[in-house]
Amino acid sequence: MIEIKNVSKWYGSFQVLTDCTTQVSKSEVVVVCGPSGSGKSTLIKCVNGLEPFQKGSVVVDGIAVEAPKTNLPKLRARVGMVFQNFELFPHMTITDNLVIAQIKVLGRSREEAEDKGLKLLDRVGLKSQAAKFPGQLSGGQQQRVAIARALAMDPICMLFDEPTSALDPEMINEVLDVMVQLAHEGMTMMCVTHEMGFARKVAHRVIFMDRGAIVEDAAKEEFFGQPRSERAQSFLAKIL
Ligand code: ADP
Ligand code: MG
Repeated sequence: MIEIKNVSKWYGSFQVLTDCTTQVSKSEVVVVCGPSGSGKSTLIKCVNGLEPFQKGSVVVDGIAVEAPKTNLPKLRARVGMVFQNFELFPHMTITDNLVIAQIKVLGRSREEAEDKGLKLLDRVGLKSQAAKFPGQLSGGQQQRVAIARALAMDPICMLFDEPTSALDPEMINEVLDVMVQLAHEGMTMMCVTHEMGFARKVAHRVIFMDRGAIVEDAAKEEFFGQPRSERAQSFLAKIL
């Protein structure tokens, strides 16, 4: 579903990604972890074309992200992305947040989009919040709306970039529960997170990044059993 091959990226003379290669199969859940500044956000943004890269290739569902003829807005519509800071439209109601891209990008009717959006809102436990504005919701609720909004586009896969790291501790689980449910339903997911409980529960593989490189890419059992690299071992020791 996602194939990342020898991707390197520079900001000026600073190399932010070094020869990154990995792949995510259909229905696979891959957790990406590693120290701050190691390139995790940059790598997953390369998957939906939010960040250009100078070397290598990324293919999502058969579409080459870096090919000049690739319709990036169309690709992004099919690759759901959830950010640390929710990124809901603050001046729009929850309902409008859920329907706008369905109408503008997918050409759905308002009725069809609302029907779909409200079903998903119900699924994340927030049906009663439809008429509110994002600022009237807690962080955990806003993040669940952001997930529902991404799902409304019928994504072929979902990318998460530290979706719980801006949340108060008591709200983390309500967001992780939604992600666990998605994983169990067979969604293909690439999740940057340091929630190792989540990783243990649903990840198939864990990728550990350090200084722009994929240092470890292992089955979950192998990663938690005994990471091969010393850097992954000391990172795990710090966060567990
Ligand atoms: P992570 O998500 O693992 O914390 P990032 O992918 O955000 O790491 O960033 C990796 C490195 O790239 C960091 O050193 C960061 O400072 C640098 N970086 C990120 N964005 C830019 C940018 N627009 N210009 C220059 N350097 C950047
Ligand atoms: Mg990041």
